[in-house]
Amino acid sequence: MKKIAFFDAKPYDKIWFDRQNRNYEITYFEEKLNQHTARFTEQFDGVCAFVNDDINSAAIDRMWKNGIRILALRCAGYSNVDVRAAYGKIHIARVPAYSPHAVAEHAAALLLTLNRKLHKAYNRTRDFNFSLNGLTGIDLYGKTAGIIGAGKIGRTFGTICRGFGMHTVAYDPFPSPDGELEYLPLDELLAHSDVLSLHCPLSDKTHHLLNESAFRQMKKGCLLINTSRGALVETAALLNALNDGTLRGAGLDVYEEEAEWFFEDFSNQIITDNALSLLVSKPNVILTSHQAFLTEEALKNIADTTLQNLDEFFSGKPMRYEIGGNSFSEKTGEARK
Ligand code: NAD
Repeated sequence: MKKIAFFDAKPYDKIWFDRQNRNYEITYFEEKLNQHTARFTEQFDGVCAFVNDDINSAAIDRMWKNGIRILALRCAGYSNVDVRAAYGKIHIARVPAYSPHAVAEHAAALLLTLNRKLHKAYNRTRDFNFSLNGLTGIDLYGKTAGIIGAGKIGRTFGTICRGFGMHTVAYDPFPSPDGELEYLPLDELLAHSDVLSLHCPLSDKTHHLLNESAFRQMKKGCLLINTSRGALVETAALLNALNDGTLRGAGLDVYEEEAEWFFEDFSNQIITDNALSLLVSKPNVILTSHQAFLTEEALKNIADTTLQNLDEFFSGKPMRYEIGGNSFSEKTGEARK
């Protein structure tokens, strides 16, 4: 059996990989994959990694020297991988879609909780405080939801919003009109949206897409939802927008510097990231720890597709979900024709 080194393993990962796996001997490491932990990959045939692992060129080189030729990401995004450094050395596969519903429904949960202040109401009633002061929200019905990135998740979120009777508009440099979403240039979308939800990938082009200048163009009192990637939003500008009322609130499942914090328990420690502390302390911010994907259906699909990616690689079949089409022979290291 081929041996797989599985990094950043959590109990919920193990449940679904152990249930779905037939062909591999999987060793689960709690550590994140990075240039230091890459040394653990000796004696393994393949590596499985996740969204906040830091897979830079040093990590790639270390794995390559250890004989690793396949890196199976169990996530969609790959901005944490130096794909260029891997070219010609290690095949990288990902799980492009596992449940757009999981992420879109979490975005909707953040929106509803934030708008109707359920996070505050929950704490109040547990303390037998039945006052309604400060809990006023807005009707979503008739409002405009602006979607940045109208792909699988963005469109699913749009469908949910239309279910609330919202008007849905989108900005996407590669629009695929379907008669449901109205496409607008970014500045117009920012100016008209009562709710703004981010669903585009993180890239050089989208890094800090929402900066001081973008916040200045927004409709005052907008609710911002980000379930995509933290670095789409410049944190300092976000804090200013929350302070000066540009934003009515923010529901965030991702944070620019999350790699250092998310998925771990720091409840007994001092948080040294001041921006993170400020965000968490604000009553009009809800922060979840990159959990939008966390449904049973998504976890099963992630395990199935990751294992299928490994099967395709080890059986020499074309890899459907390879990043960058980095095909080369496992044995010789030469490019496949
Ligand atoms: P997708 O590829 O189906 O859609 C992405 C869309 O973004 C595409 O339509 C693309 O044209 C568009 N886009 C590209 N560049 C853009 C730009 N500069 N401005 C605006 N739009 C742009 O991807 P998806 O499956 O819908 O996933 C979207 C994002 O959700 C992923 O990139 C990932 O960052 C995030 N995600 C988060 C979680 C989570 O748990 N929080 C889970 C899965 C995915």
